[in-house]
Amino acid sequence: MIIVLLGPPGAGKGTQGERLVTRLGVPKVATGDVLRAAVKAGTQLGLEAKGFMDRGDLVPDRVILGIMKEALSSPETAKGVILDGVVRTEAQAEGLATMLKEIKRPLDVVLVFSIDDEELVRRLSGRTTCDSCSTPYMGVAPGTKCPKCGGTLVQRADDAADAVRRRLQVYAAQTEPVIGWFRAHGAKVATVNAVGTLDEVEARALAAIGR
Ligand code: AMP
Repeated sequence: MIIVLLGPPGAGKGTQGERLVTRLGVPKVATGDVLRAAVKAGTQLGLEAKGFMDRGDLVPDRVILGIMKEALSSPETAKGVILDGVVRTEAQAEGLATMLKEIKRPLDVVLVFSIDDEELVRRLSGRTTCDSCSTPYMGVAPGTKCPKCGGTLVQRADDAADAVRRRLQVYAAQTEPVIGWFRAHGAKVATVNAVGTLDEVEARALAAIGR
């Protein structure tokens, strides 16, 4: 089962992706998490990505395609994978389609989490994120210990107001058109209303993938 999660920053892709991991028993790959881990570790990948990420811009397609390739060729994704925020440009969608063709695996569904900008700004400005396991929290102060792993909650640099505005512009300009690209290339695309309780949104996502 290969599922792509699309939607603006703050729509809940990460949180719902985790729930799908539990429900479906397949791992999740989130390029944002891979890149943040690389920044934290100070690797070459992290050094290259950091400036783009802090500004709220997209990291170059070449970098993302490399992460995608590694993820899809890993034995851990042999039974399936949930791709969270991995496809954000048409070039990345084309790259994914080519890789799936090569390994003869179908794309099951693209889930598009839909939500308005006002709610996104409210969510992102009130969000802290664990610097170790990336779990997001609403309304919990920076510096608090993560209840899940003991890491420290921080405000992501790109959740600051300017970067949020930039990320929403980038989403509208570069990622929203990817939805049309998938439709035009015959993929099953399902829209999930992302406003509601976590359980309500999860139920909608499961219904959209026929579970
Ligand atoms: P996220 O955690 O998904 O909000 O991603 C955080 C940041 O990582 C984004 O604002 C981008 O700078 C970068 N990033 C993550 N995934 C991608 C992608 N598929 N293409 C380009 N940049 C990405």
